[in-house]
Amino acid sequence: MAEEANPFESLQEYVGDAAAYLGVGEGLLTRLQNPERVLETNLTIELDDGGLETVRAYRSQFNDDRGPYKGGIRYHPDVTRDEVKALSGWMAYKCAVVDVPYGGGKGGIALDPRSFSTGELERITRAFATELRPLVGPDTDIAAPDVNTGQREMNWIKDTYETLEGTTAPGVVTGKGIESGGSEGRLEATGRSVMLTAREAFRYRETPLDGVTVAVQGYGNAGAVAARLLDEEGADVVAVSDSTGAVHDPDGLDAQMVKEHKKETGSVTGYVDAAEELTGEGLLTLDVDLLIPAALENAIDETLAEEVRADVIVEAANGPLTPAADDILIERDVSVFPDVLANAGGVTVSYFEWVQNRQRFYWDERRVNDELETVIVDAFDRLIEVFEEYDLPNLRTAAYAVAIDRVVNAHAEGGTWP
Ligand code: GLU
Repeated sequence: MAEEANPFESLQEYVGDAAAYLGVGEGLLTRLQNPERVLETNLTIELDDGGLETVRAYRSQFNDDRGPYKGGIRYHPDVTRDEVKALSGWMAYKCAVVDVPYGGGKGGIALDPRSFSTGELERITRAFATELRPLVGPDTDIAAPDVNTGQREMNWIKDTYETLEGTTAPGVVTGKGIESGGSEGRLEATGRSVMLTAREAFRYRETPLDGVTVAVQGYGNAGAVAARLLDEEGADVVAVSDSTGAVHDPDGLDAQMVKEHKKETGSVTGYVDAAEELTGEGLLTLDVDLLIPAALENAIDETLAEEVRADVIVEAANGPLTPAADDILIERDVSVFPDVLANAGGVTVSYFEWVQNRQRFYWDERRVNDELETVIVDAFDRLIEVFEEYDLPNLRTAAYAVAIDRVVNAHAEGGTWP
C-alpha cells in the first residue's frame, strides 16, 4: 500500500501541471495553489447529558476572482485543515470548469455524526453558523451540503444566519429543503451530472451506454443516484459498495432496491439478490466497463491503479484518485473523466437555487434538469476540444487548463492595486 497522499498536495500538483501548459508565472501560481484565508475554530457545545464537547471546525475561502466563495460543509472524523483547503480549491476550479460565476470554498467539522444526537448536531451546526456569520452571506460565501450533511443542516445554517442578521437571506446556503427555499432537482443533481458525464464519455468513445457494466464505490447520495440514473439509461449496474463492503452480481443489480436495503439496514451488504459479496477493494478491481468512485479522497492509489480493469473511470467523489494513480492510468490507457466536471452538477444546481432565491421565483424540475444538462454537455465538449487541440495527457489536465485560464482572466480583468 502506497503512503496516503495529502489531498492539498494533490491539488497543488494538478494546478502546477496545468498552469505550466498555460505559461502562468510563479508569482500568480502561488495564488492559484493556495487559499486566500482559512478559518480554524473550536465549537464547544453542551451534550444531552450535560457534559461539554469541543470539536474542530474549518472554512477555507480559496478564491473569489469569479464570484462568491462557494462550497459544501462536511462532517467526518477524518476532516483536517489540509483536506478542507484542497476541497476548497477543487470547488474554485470546478465552478470555473462549468462556468458558474462562483469562486471556491469548503468547510468541515472533524466529528462522527453517528456519535451525536440530532439535538447535539443542531447545536454544533448553529455554533458553526455563528462563527461563520461575519465571513459568509449570499454575496460573499455560500455553503452547501457535502459528506454527511444535507437539507437539515443547511436549513439550520440559514435559520441561524437569518436570525442573527434580522433578515431573510435564503441565498446564504444552497441545498436547502424545498420549503426553506431549496430547488427542485438539487438532491439528485450530483448523481445526474455523473450520469450525464458517463453518457457523454461513452458517446465520445462511440459506444452506446446500453449494456455497459458499471461498478459504484460509495452508495451515498451521489453514488446511489448515479447508479439509478445509469440503470434508467440502459447501463448494467453490477456492483456497489459502501464502508461495510460490496455486493456484486454479473447479471446486474436493481440499483433502487439496493438503496432501499441500505436505507433499512444501514449498509449495502446483506442484500439478498446479489450473487456474491466482495470487499470494497475487490469492487475497484472488477472487470467492468465503467468504474465510479463515489466515496472519499484517495480511493485509488498507484498500487490499486495497476489493478483497475475498468476502461473508463468517472469520478463522482472529490479527489478519489491520487496523482500517482493518474499517471499509471494514463500509461494503462484508462480514460478518467475528472471530478471537477463529473460531480459539478451539485454546485451547478446550487447556482440555480441561488438564482431562484434572489429572484424569489422558482423553477420546475424539468427546467432545472434541462439547464443542468446544457451546462454539463457544454463543459464536456469544451474539455474534449482543449484535450485534443493541445494534445494534453488526460482530461484532468484539460479541465484545470480551462478552469485556470478563466480564473486568471478574471483576476487580470480586476487588475492589481495599489
Ligand atoms: N459539496 C458539493 C461539491 O463538492 C456541492 C457544493 C455546492 O453545491 O456548493 O461539489
